[in-house]
Amino acid sequence: MPYSQGSRLPGESASKLGHLAVVQSDWVKALVGDFERLKSDDIDHSSTEWTEFDPTGHLALRNVWAVDGSFVAVRSEQKPPKEVAFVKTALLAVDRAKLDTIDKDHPHPLLLQDILTGSAVFHSTVFPLKNVRTTLGTNYDAVRNIVRDSLRIDQGGAFYETLKWVAFRKWETGSTATSPGFDCPHCAQTIEQGVAHDADEGLCPHCKGTVFLSDMLGFHLDMNEDNAPESVASSYMLVMEHLMLFTAIRLLWGHTDKSLATETLFIKDGPLTLRSQYSKLVPNIRDFLEHAKNIGRPLHVIGQEKSGAFFDHLSSIARFPAPHSRGEPASYAALSHDYVRREVYRSPDLSNPYGKRTNWGEKIYVKFDPGTYMVLNVPTGAYSDSQAFPVESDLIGLNRILATLPSLISHKFEGALFPIELANGIASMSSYPSAAILTRFLEQQSK
Ligand SMILES: [Zn+2]
Repeated sequence: MPYSQGSRLPGESASKLGHLAVVQSDWVKALVGDFERLKSDDIDHSSTEWTEFDPTGHLALRNVWAVDGSFVAVRSEQKPPKEVAFVKTALLAVDRAKLDTIDKDHPHPLLLQDILTGSAVFHSTVFPLKNVRTTLGTNYDAVRNIVRDSLRIDQGGAFYETLKWVAFRKWETGSTATSPGFDCPHCAQTIEQGVAHDADEGLCPHCKGTVFLSDMLGFHLDMNEDNAPESVASSYMLVMEHLMLFTAIRLLWGHTDKSLATETLFIKDGPLTLRSQYSKLVPNIRDFLEHAKNIGRPLHVIGQEKSGAFFDHLSSIARFPAPHSRGEPASYAALSHDYVRREVYRSPDLSNPYGKRTNWGEKIYVKFDPGTYMVLNVPTGAYSDSQAFPVESDLIGLNRILATLPSLISHKFEGALFPIELANGIASMSSYPSAAILTRFLEQQSK
């Protein structure tokens, strides 16, 4: 991974590397030379294939939905400190017609509020992490029950219904699918057959313990009896972002106006990825998107990566391709798995097909103007093992997505999209009660 601008060491301390004994190695010399070279390359050494985007004949999408989330861990002053984590996620619809009337360089706050009026929902919950006891049971069971209850209670159970829709493949007519298999939270053995179709819970065939549909997600695998790591909160946030986005998709999909779902751009902050045990939902999500494409109702979904390996890599090469001035056509590059391995990760690990288990979107670089470039994820539906996969025609609705994005670009931040900024505003830490209030709340609970 190249060094990002902000994390580059000052030249002074970097030159001290020359005193290291190991510098006698030619490999280390080359590394130090590269590290100390302040001037960046004039030539693009990556083999990125950029394509100019021609918007002719590609209509912008009418509606936009965006989702984002955040979480914060709060610790009390007592000894031992009690620790809980608050999670908040937001889903909102943006009126693109109204957004078009807004000055993108200096948006008026009241006009921004107007765009959002009545079209944002948020979800929040709290998890015990350490030294918090409930009278009902262990922390382990507390987290399992909170996950289930949080999903089921909010918005009249709409998010929970979405979990069932994805887990039981309810977009298929007459589906009788069981949930994906998962590890039992009581005996840790694998329940291959999952939970019965449309059921909220079942019995483990090995230990006869009661398991919830929400146990299928696997939060219990991140925990032990007494405490839970912060990753439970970050994973819950990620799962909820998915469930909220797919709630919007599910409701529009079932709408009497069949064109609504296709005429909408669904935006998620961050990659279209579910890691480790949470990736169980990925095959069903891919199958649904493939099905939608095949019956002529393609869905337009993007994820935007604002940090990480791809963002750093794009930052290092973004100055090379057109557009070199505002007003020139945008250009884009769909990244094949071969490219990802070679240029981004620089590891020839071919034993594992890239992203097969975890990703439901593929990577693409887009440059709209000299200062506006972004790493996007776009779904393909089905996955292919070919190293040349994906090519641009594999990316569902790419042309219409690219035709829509220019109207959503905010010039307040580099490479920012208005709907994500707005969702971020609702889901961000600043809209939590202040940490001091939360800490006091925690201490009062324990009296
Ligand atoms: Zn069991």
